[in-house]
Amino acid sequence: MSAPNASGWKPEMTVASQDGLHSGPVTATGNRALMLEEPLLFEIGRADVTGVDLPEPAAGAPNRLGGLDRAEPIGLLGLTEPETVRHYTRLSRQNYAIDLGLFPLGSCTMKHNPRLNEKVARMPGFADVHPLQPQETVRGAYEVINELAEWLIRLTGMHGVAMSPKAGAHGELCGILCIRAALEARGDAREVILVPESAHGTNPATAAFAGYRVEDIPATAEGRVDLEALKARLGPDVAAVMITNPNTCGLFESEMKEISDAVHAAGGFVYCDGANFNAIVGKVRPGDLGVDAMHINLHKTFSTPHGGGGPGSGPVVLSEALSPFGPLPFTARTADGVVHLVEEEGAEKFGHTQAFGRMAAFHGQMGMFTRALTYILSHGADGLKQVAEDAVLNANYILRSLEDLLDAPFGASGPCMHEALFSDAGFGGDLSTLDLAKSLIDEGFHPMTMYFPLVVHGAMLVEPTETESKASLDQFIGAFRSVAERAKAGDERMKQAPYYAPRRRLDETLAARKPKLAWSDDAEG
Ligand SMILES: *Cc1c(COP(=O)(O)O)cnc(C)c1O
Repeated sequence: MSAPNASGWKPEMTVASQDGLHSGPVTATGNRALMLEEPLLFEIGRADVTGVDLPEPAAGAPNRLGGLDRAEPIGLLGLTEPETVRHYTRLSRQNYAIDLGLFPLGSCTMKHNPRLNEKVARMPGFADVHPLQPQETVRGAYEVINELAEWLIRLTGMHGVAMSPKAGAHGELCGILCIRAALEARGDAREVILVPESAHGTNPATAAFAGYRVEDIPATAEGRVDLEALKARLGPDVAAVMITNPNTCGLFESEMKEISDAVHAAGGFVYCDGANFNAIVGKVRPGDLGVDAMHINLHKTFSTPHGGGGPGSGPVVLSEALSPFGPLPFTARTADGVVHLVEEEGAEKFGHTQAFGRMAAFHGQMGMFTRALTYILSHGADGLKQVAEDAVLNANYILRSLEDLLDAPFGASGPCMHEALFSDAGFGGDLSTLDLAKSLIDEGFHPMTMYFPLVVHGAMLVEPTETESKASLDQFIGAFRSVAERAKAGDERMKQAPYYAPRRRLDETLAARKPKLAWSDDAEG
């Protein structure tokens, strides 16, 4: 612990002498009011302490360890039960969470996770089933998967859906593998996938991982795909385009149908990154826009927890042309009304003979299916439409409340969709987007998405979601305006922010490049 020893305290030691901002005594404990310093388990644990009482082995009980009994204690560190509870509770308080406040991360759709979803997902009939149970004992679970699949197909106007991918990026891979299987089936070895410059990094990564060469599609000055440039590049070597709609500049690709028609005319397929489906759910059906494959992040649009709160789930909806190539297993209802989980041996009966393979050992993320279906049923079709409308309204409220102060590169392109995009143009001194983000932490907010999309200098992408009230949006806007004003005025103190977080500014590059994955008591690490 870096906290000063109580006996070393001198009256002139104030926090002001450390950071030049706030004044108050440096505390003897290192604690700051109710924000408690917490050392690591390795620093406070004792090898002779445990919070668990185990019974002594019965005298004369048979030893089944085959001579592998431990000869020496292994020195595992322990705490008492109350110390353990406090240790983890204190650590958890150093986290920011959607249950604590607004989480404006653009592209991530950090919306409230309704407690009703959690209640249903914890029902033993859903929570305690095992993927290897005999099918007739888990009919209800298959009904849930199948009903969710039907909702996703209806909401997107598509033909089929692969439920097993376990995240958005996994869904992208599934969709691109379907496209590859469809091209191979017609003996058409195309090599290139076109991706806009503003795309999420997972798009080019997916295309490259699936064995394709990636080429950029340029954008117009309004932040949308350049249709003429795209048309000029299409040809017999282009397998697919991957387009995010609404795109990562927060804009709807209004020429999506023309894009799809041009790609299809050239013999290619259209992959849509559906991570931003929250902005159009209930309003637009991607199937009507000519999309062949699109992943849906259940953990974004359909409110299942993410960001450290739970596993993702990325079902992929498929067009009629791609559906025959979707992966195994899948759910299907037979004439007697019963839903089955179909594997290799049953697939032929359902006419599904060209599956490219599988994405996961079993059927996908059951807990997330349960939550997402609960969310969909509790909103209904009209409620889902309102989700999109309110998400877009909230983002436009933020865009228009800040654009007098911050540069909004596409503010003149009309209303945004569900996220508002700003740049660092006009910041004073050598202040950057990073300094503004760190200052937002001092104001009690998780920062927005920074430096993405790459096409905007010092990008700040703010996505409030529909679950924020006007009162909480106003509070956020007030905080954002205050740090934006300081950034424009060139307030150099922002370079040291955050001042009030449990940890100050960290070397994030070093942490990412050279992570320390094991604890060491050597001060040099
Ligand atoms: C979140 C996101 C992805 C990836 O989804 P994961 O579930 O994180 O794998 C892809 N594209 C966009 C635009 C996203 O926002």
